[in-house]
Amino acid sequence: SLYRDATPPWRNAAGMDLSDPVHADRLRRDLQQFANAQWQAAPLVAGQWLEGEAQPVRNPAQRDEIVGTVVAASDAAIDSALSAAASAQAAWDAAGIEQRAGCLERLAELMETHCHELMALLSREAGRTLDDGLSEVREAIDFCRYYAQQARLRLAPQVLPGPTGEVNELTLHGRGVFVCISPWNFPLAIFTGQVVAALVAGNSVIAKPAEQTPLIAARAVSLMREAGVPDDVLQLLPGDGARVGAALVADNRVAGVAFTGSTQTAKLINRTLADRDGALPVLIAETGGLNCMLVDATALPEQVVDDVVISAFQSAGQRCSALRVMYLQDDIADKVLGMLGGAMKELRIGDPARLETDIGPVIDTEAQAMLERHVERMEREATPIASCELGSEALAGTFFAPRVYGIERLDQLESEVFGPILHVIRYRASELSAVLESINRSGYGLTLGVHSRIDGFARDVFKATRVGNTYINRNMVGAIVGVNPFGGQGLSGTGPKAGGPHYLLRFVTEKTRTDNV
Ligand code: GLU
Repeated sequence: SLYRDATPPWRNAAGMDLSDPVHADRLRRDLQQFANAQWQAAPLVAGQWLEGEAQPVRNPAQRDEIVGTVVAASDAAIDSALSAAASAQAAWDAAGIEQRAGCLERLAELMETHCHELMALLSREAGRTLDDGLSEVREAIDFCRYYAQQARLRLAPQVLPGPTGEVNELTLHGRGVFVCISPWNFPLAIFTGQVVAALVAGNSVIAKPAEQTPLIAARAVSLMREAGVPDDVLQLLPGDGARVGAALVADNRVAGVAFTGSTQTAKLINRTLADRDGALPVLIAETGGLNCMLVDATALPEQVVDDVVISAFQSAGQRCSALRVMYLQDDIADKVLGMLGGAMKELRIGDPARLETDIGPVIDTEAQAMLERHVERMEREATPIASCELGSEALAGTFFAPRVYGIERLDQLESEVFGPILHVIRYRASELSAVLESINRSGYGLTLGVHSRIDGFARDVFKATRVGNTYINRNMVGAIVGVNPFGGQGLSGTGPKAGGPHYLLRFVTEKTRTDNV
């Protein structure tokens, strides 16, 4: 076979069928139990949750509802966390792969047990719909099981052939203290994926969750401790990026940073790391995209519309993988856009904690204002094509109605617009190579969609573009761990791909022992 053997058996999380009334009823009952629950987040340093001034955390779907409180990390907490993590790392590395992988597997079990609470928290703190929340819990569980299995498979010591009488051994070790800076759009899955990868590779970890979603991070960290991660090995520091994140990244005790967020912040982190004294730290960055979909004249309009609605509007477009620009071949454009406008009228936008909701709120007032500014610009410079209506309940939260605009060229958008706004560019068959060139010229390379019934078309597009994840005749979001390794290139990230076989290798350092016995 052309392909290297697939990895040994492991199982993606089973989840549940939300359209099955038995499951749905059980879920509704459990959600009811957490409808008024309050969660807490605070700095966790050397096994102690620190006290301090607690700030309220609000539900984005209902701004006057408080979901819990957060204590931000002080400068002293940041310093103690760094010392604790630095002193704990060697013993954690020496503890061995089996012990570390065991923690990840117990964590997966715990997340399965607490799935409904995590879904409730995801919906109330981050505005995630139940469908998105369920996928996210499953993804977090998958990261735990997959990286546990990958650690056993790829991080084990190797004895290498050499001259007679000489023993050569290659061993892999944690790099030291890893700082994991995670985003609010996947506040459980990406948070967990970064932290467990760094941990299983033998690093101690300081987790700095997004400012908007500290509660889910704190809940995940309690489960990690329950799963057996020792006190000093994992610290949590809530707070804003400009202060807490910046202080961590600038500190010489940090050996590596895993970051998911904007390209601009990734560059800032890179600059700070480069300017530090001492050893060269490593940066793993997953950043934004200006993701396109190409739809040629042979595509099936019904399927295109279904996949566009999911790719552009699910999760209120707040995925770095989401579709931003659809290139539509002229001959099919009017039909597809007519059907898309119709499908958008059916979307239910509202309380993410209700099973029937398709689209929840955007994360906060800042995100809402940024999208509104983009709309103002599009109303001046572009052609309005379709939009959705918001109901009156939307007034209570930071909701934003999906919209579609026609534009002329990709370079009218300088960067990613993180929300449910789709741009459409019509093209003629003769312009295809220019289209592909402009996609490459944008510098981003995260996801790409292709809809066509001609096999060769998709193959040619795949070959000609520098993009991390290409999806053909399906939607372009929701990468599955171990199945669709996820991550981009160029302005979209450094690699390696999350949920793929090369991810853990960037978290380790290598030692060769040559012994003339
Ligand atoms: N992995 C997610 C997906 O495939 C996107 C992650 C992100 O938005 O950062 O949709």
